[in-house]
Amino acid sequence: MGFSVARMFHTLFISRPVSSCLLCLLSLAPPLTFLFEILFRYHATTALLHYQLPQMPDVVVRSFMTWLRSYIKLFQAPCQRCGKFLQDGLPPTWRDFRTLEAFHDTCRQ
Ligand SMILES: [Zn+2]
Repeated sequence: MGFSVARMFHTLFISRPVSSCLLCLLSLAPPLTFLFEILFRYHATTALLHYQLPQMPDVVVRSFMTWLRSYIKLFQAPCQRCGKFLQDGLPPTWRDFRTLEAFHDTCRQ
């Protein structure tokens, strides 16, 4: 297949320069913002790999956008394992692919 949904999303959300990322506009301290962005990009890449269905690109787009939309509650949803909002100054950046529940990166295992 010539068209790659994964490549399109990678271009839109993951491979952009750090300085142009909208997530940098969050009012976190700069070092934490940078760390958050690295974590988010890592999780978004993992999500793209998880939702790969070459025969059904529309399903991939819908699934990924639903997953991405779950970040609207980034500062409202506590971690489903430890129950805290912040861990080392960071919110729960991981979203379960099936349930979309929030977890800290270190709590998702
Ligand atoms: Zn946690």
